[in-house]
Amino acid sequence: MTQPKILIVEDEERIRNFLQRGLSFDGYTVEIAQDGKQGLHMHEEFGPDLILLDVMLPGMDGLDVCRRIRETSNVPIMMLTAKEAIEDRVAGLDAGADDYLVKPFALDELNARIRALLRRAPASPPQIFRFGNLELDTGTRQGQRGEYHFDLTIKEYELLELFMKNPRNVLTRDLIYDRVWGYDFGRESNIIEVYVRYLRQKTEQGGMSRLIHTVRGVGYVMREESDA
Ligand code: CA
Repeated sequence: MTQPKILIVEDEERIRNFLQRGLSFDGYTVEIAQDGKQGLHMHEEFGPDLILLDVMLPGMDGLDVCRRIRETSNVPIMMLTAKEAIEDRVAGLDAGADDYLVKPFALDELNARIRALLRRAPASPPQIFRFGNLELDTGTRQGQRGEYHFDLTIKEYELLELFMKNPRNVLTRDLIYDRVWGYDFGRESNIIEVYVRYLRQKTEQGGMSRLIHTVRGVGYVMREESDA
């Protein structure tokens, strides 16, 4: 079982380093972002189990970041702030945060709160999707094909789940954008191609047959070679 992944979004280097050292030492896998924009990007790429999110960030503040993440994800979020004002606390919880910690704080308290949040992280009843010898576990969000196990980032997982829920159906690029990236994502990008490539690398380990096929000019389909 991999260690829980924590994303730290904090612009103050001193605090960022403090958190990174402390949480790494405690066995968490830690990634850091220095502002809100980077934080959103890291959330997409890193698929954290929990986010520590500073309220006062340059550019997009922590409350906006929290709202944006909540549009697509239930990942536990703990807001960090230097202010003790009740308005900030309410604003943070209104924005969808799960907990709230006032600076300065000790690592022990932070750790206790993190453990509580990770325990509370919901488990919709885990399920295993199967297609041929490919399996996707909705509980661990890991995949397996034959003897090969693989981890998935959030977007990789969502895309693979979409394919496995719709085997042998051609999924158009628009449908994939809507379901995995949302309506405001630039459709001229090659993001789907990139993620399909990632998924192929993971599902075709050991020279196994291709399952995710390109339907030229339309989109993609999950099928066995023999279904063609
Ligand atoms: Ca700050």
